[in-house]
Amino acid sequence: MQIQVSLSLEINANATFSEMEAQIQEAGHRWMREALIKTVRAWEGTRPFCRRCGGAIRTEGTTRRTILTLFGQVQVVRRRFRCQSCHHRFCPSADLLQELHFSRVTEGLREAAILAGASWPYRHAAATLKRLSGAEISAEEIRS
Ligand SMILES: [Zn+2]
Repeated sequence: MQIQVSLSLEINANATFSEMEAQIQEAGHRWMREALIKTVRAWEGTRPFCRRCGGAIRTEGTTRRTILTLFGQVQVVRRRFRCQSCHHRFCPSADLLQELHFSRVTEGLREAAILAGASWPYRHAAATLKRLSGAEISAEEIRS
């Protein structure tokens, strides 16, 4: 499984070193979000058969799921399929996303939020996570 995500930046020639750092960090987070979306898509492509009977499947649209990661909010586009033999409908990525347990927050972000929430007031913890990693998580989500 191989994915390709390109990264090109337009950086102001008059930017300070700190501004360059911030712009490159933000671009890196955008790249990571795109890489995750493409990785899920590639992973789905490795499962071209019905998970119930092994029959041939046909695409039946997409559905989106918002996931909060260490590098920001990602809108994963999940393909839906229908089996041409047993008519079972499914999203292969449901298996992949099962470890989130219907939460919007990844395990990596959950760990970071617990550490930040134990160190600072929740609002400050949310702002610090956003600044350091690009994670978009609310103070309420850190509290819970
Ligand atoms: Zn089937």
